Amino acid sequence: MQILLVSDLHYTLKQLDWVSGVAGDFDLVVLAGDHLDIASIVEPDAQIAVVLEYLSRMAAKTAVAACSGNHDLNSRNEHGELAARWLEAATAAGVLVDGTRWETDEVLVTVCPWWDGPRTRELVGEQLAADAAIVGDRQWIWVYHAPPDASPTSWTGKRHYGDEDLVGWIEQHRPSIVLCGHVHESPFKADGSWIDTIGSTTVVNAGRQIGPIPARVEIDTDARSARWSSLAGVEEQSLAGV
Ligand SMILES: [Zn+2]
Repeated sequence: MQILLVSDLHYTLKQLDWVSGVAGDFDLVVLAGDHLDIASIVEPDAQIAVVLEYLSRMAAKTAVAACSGNHDLNSRNEHGELAARWLEAATAAGVLVDGTRWETDEVLVTVCPWWDGPRTRELVGEQLAADAAIVGDRQWIWVYHAPPDASPTSWTGKRHYGDEDLVGWIEQHRPSIVLCGHVHESPFKADGSWIDTIGSTTVVNAGRQIGPIPARVEIDTDARSARWSSLAGVEEQSLAGV
């Protein structure tokens, strides 16, 4: 299975165009959050309409998973915590959004929301526990905006800016692959990286770059390889585990 990971497109239309153009070359396209740009002069509702249109175009070509990032939270969920409720509209086009899973004989993909409060964090824990019970011997892939804390994939150049709870969940559940974003600089900084290994888990964060083509990670689950492509060049590494 061929997977494309991009993240943190932040309403960069040329990069959304690029992803739409190549989506059909992959079995699964993952956009790991921060679809919107809260600093943009374009109104959030207008950004949302455009991003939903791009997501449905991609989903017409292949399987698409899109989780929320901290820039995507436009309303509150039933627990009073900030959430990207607008993403739910993408399910009409078949897009896998926060709180959903995608299954084949080969893989189980779990799409997690950005949690902005204790109740949503609890729900993520419950979601992961539920999928742990059914994953069996398939490769388990998580889509999760923030990278784990204390990892080169969450290094800003000055400090780690990752998710401590994710570290605990990775140690508890040992997924095969965690697909992240959030810390744009990690792959480009000394002591940072686009890839990390935690036990038998491979964590990747493609980072964010300027220009019409996003920084990206392509994963081949059969060859068990991951390839990062960006303005800084191309690097390839084997996935962790057996
Ligand atoms: Zn971002």
